[in-house]
Amino acid sequence: MSEEYALTVIAHGCELSAEDLTAVKTLLTDVLKVGKFTSQDLSTRAVDFYFQSAKPEELQSAVKNELLNNSNHYDLVFQKQSTRKSKKLFIFDMDSTLIYQEVIELIAAYANIEDKVAEITERAMNGELDFNASLAERVSLLKGIDATSIWEELKHKIEVTNGAKELCLALKKLNVVMGVCSGGFIPLAEHVKLHLGLDYAYANVLGTNEKLELDGTTTGPIVNGEMKAELLLKIAKNHGIDPQDAVAVGDGANDLKMMSVAGFGVAWNAKPKVQQLAPSCLNSDSLLDILYILGYTEAEIKELVN
Ligand SMILES: [Mg+2]
Repeated sequence: MSEEYALTVIAHGCELSAEDLTAVKTLLTDVLKVGKFTSQDLSTRAVDFYFQSAKPEELQSAVKNELLNNSNHYDLVFQKQSTRKSKKLFIFDMDSTLIYQEVIELIAAYANIEDKVAEITERAMNGELDFNASLAERVSLLKGIDATSIWEELKHKIEVTNGAKELCLALKKLNVVMGVCSGGFIPLAEHVKLHLGLDYAYANVLGTNEKLELDGTTTGPIVNGEMKAELLLKIAKNHGIDPQDAVAVGDGANDLKMMSVAGFGVAWNAKPKVQQLAPSCLNSDSLLDILYILGYTEAEIKELVN
């Protein structure tokens, strides 16, 4: 049985040109072998193409191929049309997703060990290092840092990603449950939760000694890739939401598991390995562009963020 699918083209910041659209139409007819399609402009930066297909897996991998092998200034998102607007749960990664920075690197700046920590973070996010081991390694470097003032200071240093606030406002209006599941640290995840009006925040807890200094350990369960997936399923269950109606958004290798247990996933300006394995990629300059992936037009988005 063939079903209706959508291929969404989203330009990275500029507008889509006539040449861009011609290239996508050629992709549809010559590579994806789609006989008949219709299209709808979502905005000057995003266009939807609709068509029937009985071989979605083949099309998905052909689209991935096109994305990864050609450095276009737009993303291509292939998905089933009928489920785009039925999302009920969004789980976000925090570092380099909802905020621009990696929190552990902000903390490390206090201890003048930025280079050491950044190098370990990079290797972990590329999937070269086991997450738990790298977390322990990085956290041990933070031993001795004063824990009483650091969080208040870091809250001022955090820069929320462009479009995150508007996206969360829109999703709230659509009655979507939202959470942040972070391999970072709870005081800042809680801060981001409050700032963006999220329903849940989960992250790691840093241990302190009797002098209220960081003791170089974490306490409680580690929020790693597996835990992020478990938390997504737990939150979905709490709300009676089918995980197929959930979306996971993140940039790191430790976000792939939650993307795979959710019905859909968005790799946000992610590392190449993550882009390769994620259900969809978005490399634009605003998280609000996720609403194009869900099929909303510019006029509808304006209405939602008002
Ligand atoms: Mg991240």
